[in-house]
Amino acid sequence: MDYDVIVVGAGPAGSTAAKNLAEKGIKVLLLDKATFPRDKPCGGGLPTRVQKRFPYIQPFIDSISYGSTTYSSSLRYKYSLIREKPFLMMVLRKDFDYGLLSLAKQAGAVFLDGRSVVDVVVQKEKVSVMLDDGQTMESQVVIGCDGMHSVVAEKTNLCKHLEVICIALMQEQPMTPKQLTTFFTKKHLIYLFIKAHGIAGYAWVFPKKNCVNIGIGEFQSAVSKTRPKIPLKETYEALITVLKEKNLLPTEFQIENLRGATLPIFPLENTCGNRVLLCGDAAGFINPITGEGIYYAMVSGHIAANIITEGLKAGDLSRHFLTRYQTLWMDDFGKDLKALGRFNNQWGKDSEKIVRLMMYDKKFAKLIIGVTGGQISLTKYKNALIIRYIYAFFKGLFSKKEK
Ligand SMILES: Cc1cc2nc3c(=O)[nH]c(=O)nc-3n(C[C@H](O)[C@H](O)[C@H](O)COP(=O)(O)OP(=O)(O)OC[C@H]3O[C@@H](n4cnc5c(N)ncnc54)[C@H](O)[C@@H]3O)c2cc1C
Repeated sequence: MDYDVIVVGAGPAGSTAAKNLAEKGIKVLLLDKATFPRDKPCGGGLPTRVQKRFPYIQPFIDSISYGSTTYSSSLRYKYSLIREKPFLMMVLRKDFDYGLLSLAKQAGAVFLDGRSVVDVVVQKEKVSVMLDDGQTMESQVVIGCDGMHSVVAEKTNLCKHLEVICIALMQEQPMTPKQLTTFFTKKHLIYLFIKAHGIAGYAWVFPKKNCVNIGIGEFQSAVSKTRPKIPLKETYEALITVLKEKNLLPTEFQIENLRGATLPIFPLENTCGNRVLLCGDAAGFINPITGEGIYYAMVSGHIAANIITEGLKAGDLSRHFLTRYQTLWMDDFGKDLKALGRFNNQWGKDSEKIVRLMMYDKKFAKLIIGVTGGQISLTKYKNALIIRYIYAFFKGLFSKKEK
């Protein structure tokens, strides 16, 4: 056996799993098809809970935003929140993922990049992982952290076809610190455009230390069948025009290096089998309202490593033993993802009133931002949210603010 564990994919899920395993003295191989450091299409916005749970990410944080402004679809309503405490941490994926990978290597994980996994065969006593150069590696167990369209998930029959996805377009363009302060203030406020130009999704503008990240994402499951098809690129171009008109971007800003990507939005039914576990995007661990996934990738990678450590000790890597992984992620964040998933279709409905109600009632705004951003648990705060929604609704009826 070459290794105890082979981790496929060195994104946040894979590096977190490999770090945790290597720290326990387990022989781990981390493989990635890309050559590192590699970039990845992403907003790079992290809720503060990521740093709370994994304080070691601190050196890889690029900048901090202290607030947000949320616009309604028509741009008629907007809600601003400015805080003393950090609101969202910003990372550059090239640096962040490389930072996490360095920690995994320091802990003792062996890393091979530029190696694409093309097949995974689970046998009674081992797992064989085939690479595109014809080489085969063997281990006791494999963790699939290879993102959307995971080869590990496909070859082990945990996922044959991913249907429900979000399609996104984004760019990260350099801006000078002076421009960033002019357009986003010293607090580096982010902008969110709910259902920008009528899409079943939203657009984000994330200022960072030396650049701005602007993206747009649409949830395919919520797109109305009767709505005429508008290419996402056209919506993106229209958004940039609006941002310039609203003086939220310099007029000379160009659309360049626009990148497209897809995200899974619902967890897979099965995330483990005999000698195999799936983490992060490969398992479909994404917030189905915002598309945020780095937190879930790191948490699932961490939990998977703990369960595998127990399995190696017990000499049991059967599906039956590894099912504890499924129970643990479900208790940790799964129930919230499932609860949020029930609201995913709201992207296809009228959301104008949500931003209006946020303007009427700060507590409702705080709750909705906390719950959708995954900062507070929807399962715990569901009743509080419903009560506050009703309160905000009636407050709005009698409010003198624009209706
Ligand atoms: C446009 C966009 C914006 C986003 N914005 C945010 C955001 O602001 N905040 C947030 O938290 N999340 C965001 N996400 C989600 C986030 O990017 C993912 O949830 C996160 O990257 C998942 O981490 P991961 O480790 O599971 O997978 P990944 O980061 O995708 O890493 C998978 C790795 O596997 C490798 N790999 C794939 N196939 C193979 C193979 N066959 N063999 C070997 N290696 C392979 C890839 O090269 C890659 O390095 C966004 C996603 C998109 C697309």
